[in-house]
Amino acid sequence: LTDEERDVLERIDREGIDFLRLQFTDILGTVKNVAVPADQAEKAFTEGIYFDGSSIEGFVRIQESDMRLKPDASTFAVLPWRGTSARLICDVIDTSTGEPFQGDPRAVLKGALERAEELGYEVNAAPEPEFFLFEEDEEGKATTDTNDAGGYFDVAPKDLASDVRRDIIYGLEEMGFDIEASHHEVAEGQHEINFEYDDALSTADNVATFRTVVRAIAAQHDLHATFMPKPIAKVNGSGMHTHISLFTEDGENAFHDADDEFDLSETAKQFTAGILEHAPALAAVTNPTVNSYKRLVPGYEAPVYVAWSDRNRSALIRKPAARVPAASRIEARFPDPSCNPYLAFAVLIHAGLEGIENDMECEDPIRENIYEFDEEKREEYGIDTLPSNLGEAVDALENDETVYEALGPHVGPKFVEAKRAEFADYLVDVSDWELDRYLEKF
Ligand code: GLU
Ligand code: MG
Ligand code: MG
Repeated sequence: LTDEERDVLERIDREGIDFLRLQFTDILGTVKNVAVPADQAEKAFTEGIYFDGSSIEGFVRIQESDMRLKPDASTFAVLPWRGTSARLICDVIDTSTGEPFQGDPRAVLKGALERAEELGYEVNAAPEPEFFLFEEDEEGKATTDTNDAGGYFDVAPKDLASDVRRDIIYGLEEMGFDIEASHHEVAEGQHEINFEYDDALSTADNVATFRTVVRAIAAQHDLHATFMPKPIAKVNGSGMHTHISLFTEDGENAFHDADDEFDLSETAKQFTAGILEHAPALAAVTNPTVNSYKRLVPGYEAPVYVAWSDRNRSALIRKPAARVPAASRIEARFPDPSCNPYLAFAVLIHAGLEGIENDMECEDPIRENIYEFDEEKREEYGIDTLPSNLGEAVDALENDETVYEALGPHVGPKFVEAKRAEFADYLVDVSDWELDRYLEKF
């Protein structure tokens, strides 16, 4: 046992933990867990816990289904709404080789971080997940009735959710989060809670945890929290802006250059260029649902056009104002909170690193509101658009070697297959919009 593992065993004892939830995610980003009695902890660390991978979306075929969970001791946290249970996030091990299972999203992200490390970088990331709080009906089912009519930065009593947000923040803090800020977002019933940046792997773990905590605590208030990107038409959707920076081994921010007009180093610009170059394919992973593309339309602070800006929120990548050199970073504005954070960070990092490796040139930032550009002006500036639906995004993914390979040999094909099926299913559906529009007209 490592020191960290021994510490966990001690805490289990001291804090009277009865059950351990061993947690991992499937390729779609759904959190899965198996509960084991706490006295299994030592065995979980030394031998791992075996499970049947064939029942997990995108994992393995039935004939090769034995998988092993290897808990990461640094992720131990007591579940605040279940005082005697704690969770541990796990790596998935392929029992036939004893190696990390390539279908495990956490392993895919670790692959991206290794590539960064080979270039001498550590990757920091901070997400801004937005979400809606909706009323439940008499049967406890989610509705799309927002629980308040507040708007951006409103305060109580209009912002009825501030109590819920406070409880969510207490819960997150108990689980070890450093909360930076929370506020009511632009849309009615829409909220945002920001937590401190961390290395990209911890941040991806944190996103998975965050979504679980937000939903669990909202439910205690008889509210349904949703990270669906666009639950209500024609108002702002929910994004998960992702701030990224690279640090060198001696702790310098490789994205900072005080002599640059935007405080951004050449490295940061190349990284940005890599993301812009691969944006349509990246979208399949960072915006992976049919509904994601209802958010990526002009007019709702979500990006549509492939460009970067040092001020404009209509751009795909923004350079936020930074007070200190360590805070120089780029903000990718297109990801949404329905993504699998491990896979989303992995593909963003690979695309950015490719920009660095190939010395890609970054165009000048766009300072005007791109929403207002017509096609001619976009052509003049050479501005591409993001895919307009999931089908186009998956096409772009399949045709982009860099992004497809970033997912690895297991997740790439499984992801494409799952997303193609999802889009095909959507295409044959008849929506309420169609019924409203046509049923009585024809
Ligand atoms: N809700 C907006 C989006 O869809 C972002 C608003 C903001 O700038 O925080 O990305
Ligand atoms: Mg926001
Ligand atoms: Mg933001």
